[in-house]
Formats: sequence, C-alpha cells, structure tokens
Amino acid sequence: MSLAERLARPEILALPPFDLSANANALFARDAVRLDANENPYPPLGADALSANVNRYPEPQPGHLVRAMAALYGVGTEELLVTRGADDAIDVLVRTFCQPAIDAVSICPPTFAAYAHFALLQGARVIEAPLSEGFELDLDALLAKLSEESSLKLAFLCSPNNPTGNVIPRADILRIADALPETILVLDEAYVEFADVESLAAEAVRRPNLVVLRTLSKAFGLAGARVGALIGNRELIALAARAMAPYPLPSLSIAAASAALSPARRPLHAERIARIKADRERLAPLLAAAPDVEKVRSGGANFLFLEVADPAGLADRLRSAGVRVRFRPNAAPGGVRVSIGTDAENDALLAALGISSKAPDRRRAELVRETKETSIAVAVDLDAAAPRRVDTGVPFFDHMLDQVAAHGNFSLLLNCKGDLEIDAHHSLEDCAIAFGQALSKALAERRGIGRFGFALPMDEAEAQVLIDLSGRPYAQFEGDFTASHIGAYPTEMTPHIFRSFADTLGAAIHVRVTGENDHHKTEACFKAFGRALRQAVAREGDREAVPSTKGVL
Ligand code: PMP
Repeated sequence: MSLAERLARPEILALPPFDLSANANALFARDAVRLDANENPYPPLGADALSANVNRYPEPQPGHLVRAMAALYGVGTEELLVTRGADDAIDVLVRTFCQPAIDAVSICPPTFAAYAHFALLQGARVIEAPLSEGFELDLDALLAKLSEESSLKLAFLCSPNNPTGNVIPRADILRIADALPETILVLDEAYVEFADVESLAAEAVRRPNLVVLRTLSKAFGLAGARVGALIGNRELIALAARAMAPYPLPSLSIAAASAALSPARRPLHAERIARIKADRERLAPLLAAAPDVEKVRSGGANFLFLEVADPAGLADRLRSAGVRVRFRPNAAPGGVRVSIGTDAENDALLAALGISSKAPDRRRAELVRETKETSIAVAVDLDAAAPRRVDTGVPFFDHMLDQVAAHGNFSLLLNCKGDLEIDAHHSLEDCAIAFGQALSKALAERRGIGRFGFALPMDEAEAQVLIDLSGRPYAQFEGDFTASHIGAYPTEMTPHIFRSFADTLGAAIHVRVTGENDHHKTEACFKAFGRALRQAVAREGDREAVPSTKGVL
C-alpha cells in the first residue's frame, strides 16, 4: 500500500477510481454523433472561435493540456493533475487526506491564507509554526513542533513565500520531507518562475511524501483562466483525482492555457518574466527610499513586501491615489504587498509614494500571429539592443533577421513553428509580416523618429536600402540571384520578404543589390535594411513631434 493510500481519508478510498486516461473523446472519431451527455446541440449565439465549442462538456483532464503542462514542468502525464488554479489543488489535497476533527495540517505564517482556509472548511486542525522575525524558516523549531503531531497529514510550505517573497533552500525542504515520512509535504511553487531556483517538481514525483503546486496564473498571465497543477507520484495523483469536480476546467480556460503554452510563445513569456524580475530589482531600492517605508523585502516572486510603520494608513493613502496594494492585518500586520506591474502602473505607485522616478520610455511591442500554416510570436524593443533571439525554423533566415536587429540596434525575439514539411515559403512570408507588424506597433504614432534611413556594402556585394517610415507601403527590389537556395532558404523569397516588411511596417523600402555571391548579396540586403532602420527609428529632436508636415504618419 502506498503512503498516499495509507494517509487518504477512508471515504476517498471507498470511491471508485477515477480513470485519468478514460476519455470518451479518445474512443470516438471527432465527427461522432454526440448524444451522450445531454448537451445542447447549438453553440452559443454569437460564439467566436474561442467559445465555438462551449455547448459541449470539456474533457475532465484534457489530453493535450496535460501533456503540455507535464512537459513544461518536466514530469510524466500521470504525475500531474490539472486543477482550477493552485487554489483548487490545495482544496483537493485537503479533501483527499484530512478527516474532519481528526487530522491536521501545518502552516508557517505569515503565508498564503488558502491553506488554513480550505483546512478549516474541511474541519481539519491548523497547526501554526511561524516564520522567524526575518521571515526565515526556523527548521529545528518547525521539526520539533511538527514531530509531536501524530495525525499531521499535510505540511504546507510556500516558496517563494506569499507575502514575504522568501525562498526556502532546497536542502531544507528535502530535510523536512525526510524528517516527516508520515506527512505529505505540500510545496507551493506558485511564484517559482520569478525566483533563481529550480523547481522541486522532479523530486516530488520520486518521493512518496512530497507534492508540488504550480500555476499558470502568475508566470503565464492566466489568473482569470484558473489553471494550475498538482504534481506528485502517480499513486497520490490517482487518489487526488477522486476528489476533483467532474469537469473542473472550463473549455475557454483550456483553450487559453493551450494557446499560452504553444511553443512559439514560450520565449516571449520568458522575456516577460525576465522583465518583471528586472523591474522588481529596479523598484526595490526606489521604494526603500520612500519616507513611509522601513524595509523592502525583495524575494523571488513578482511582488515586493514593504515593511512600514503604518501599513493600514499607507494602504488607505494609496487607495485614495487609485493604487491597489494588499494589506492583511491578520496575516501580515507589519507591511503591505505590492505586485510588480507595467511601467505605467509602477510609475503610478512611485508617484503616489512621492518618489519622482519614471521607468524609461521604451517603444516595445509583442504580438502573436496564428494561422493553419504558421504560429508566430514576436517581440521588439526599439530602445534596447538585447536580447536578440530568432528561431524561424530556417537557420539562414534566423541569421538574416538577427542581422536586421543587430544592425538596427534593437531587441528582437521571434519564434515561428511553421509548416516546413511543405516548404519554407509560409514561414518566411509570415515571419516578415509579423515582424513588420511588430515594428509598426512599437513605433505607434511614429513620434520623434528620424523617419528616413539609408545604408550600404558587404565584400564584393553592394546593397542599398532606402527607407521612409511614411505609413504608406511601397516596395521596390532590384537585383537577381543565381542560386535557388541558401540552405533551406529559397532566394526568390528575398524580394517577397521586403514587400511584406513594407506592407506591414507601413514603409517605402527600396532595395538595390549587385554582386556575385548570393549569400553575400542576401546578407547585405538584410544588414543594410537593419542599418537603414536604425537611422529611421532613432529618436531625434522633439520626442513628441511627428516627423511630417502633415502632422501624422
Ligand atoms: N499559492 C500562492 C502562494 C498564491 O499566492 C496563490 C494566489 N495568489 C495561489 C497559490 C493560487 O494560485 P491560482 O491562481 O493558481 O489559484
């Protein structure tokens, strides 16, 4: 008998097993006549692509989402249960293991309130082993207290901790798991993507008494979709599945989560996380200098904990300035928690605290473009030279787009999963379209820019690119290539790509290229385009001025 079975409530053991692999959709063809679930045969009135199927029940554990999340967290599909947010995973664990009035859970306050909430709802006892003054885990005191308890079913640890941000060292977590072999250690890693530590998910699937909670709410911006995961060994996951609601995940949430986890979007998510972490470190010293703030705790999450003399007063003052922060007098009486927001939101917080500092004004844009042929995510930042990461599936084109960004002196993340099994055409064309659209979006009203650009040669080849970010698309390409391909890149696509740039960027682009070597000639075109762009997007003079006598571009 597994540890999970020994610790589970008798009511859970008495329930029939929930077969995680049982999925009626897998037994029938997609177009099978669906008369089994008393659904309404008509999709909702006015349904869009996302809600087209909501007249049908979702799968209890949708296969593709389970696979995507298992891959994301590096575990097997039977070692993970997709839940309605990590909140639901907490509830499911408590209902799987805690008998009312008999069993107990432990928490280390100040910490996330849901552990005690769900335990009390289930009639379980809540044992508190508070963090030290400095919000560190006092390992010996914790173990001494918890070892006394005979029916301690779940020990909750939150790392990074909400609201203090502290990260518990891996060795300490494993020591607690070793010291409490008859208790399931629940490690809540809701914020781990923002910390510089590795998740313990892989450890959880190997150990009988460790489970990990993850969520798409924070790192993937899906708080409103309510998608999280419980990760643990298979026996435990199979038991916890019995405590789940019949159709826990709304189809709209399944669709949103699947889209967010699509491989093309991953680099952009990683970049957003890096930005939030950088903003956290930028804001911490600024906030520490505010008159009300005694100490700023910057841990490994997407928030800061401000220790202040009068947290209630501060939260009130911020409220009147229209800024919401979290103050929980019972849970964390000594401070307020503030999330890291957008540049404008962070500026609003700083201004409300009387700190005169503004985030640098950056011309950034992100966009995704999905068709049946390609799935593309692109981000540009015209006011940062890094990072540059391009993966179109066509190495030579990666090199070319990287040249554009390097010589344009801007940051470019572009990822494309396209139908290369057909050929490179769709990927190249769609990447050019998405790239042009992203540049145009980042330029917004095109205020304060040089607008025009010119550039030139490479070895024996000579490429001239002239550009006018006029808002009016026009493309002219003069030049011939003799090779049909450079690697997997068809040379006939070059004029086409520049036309796509012109169309979507809203620019006149004139390219003229001569020379002998097609690799050189092509590369010279892209480099020169980057150089021309560099001049044209550069800020000069009045930042607000639109560089046109018309007053609009
Ligand atoms: N754990 C912690 C530590 C949290 O702070 C939160 C939400 N604020 C959750 C879990 C719940 O996350 P979800 O949105 O996935 O339910």
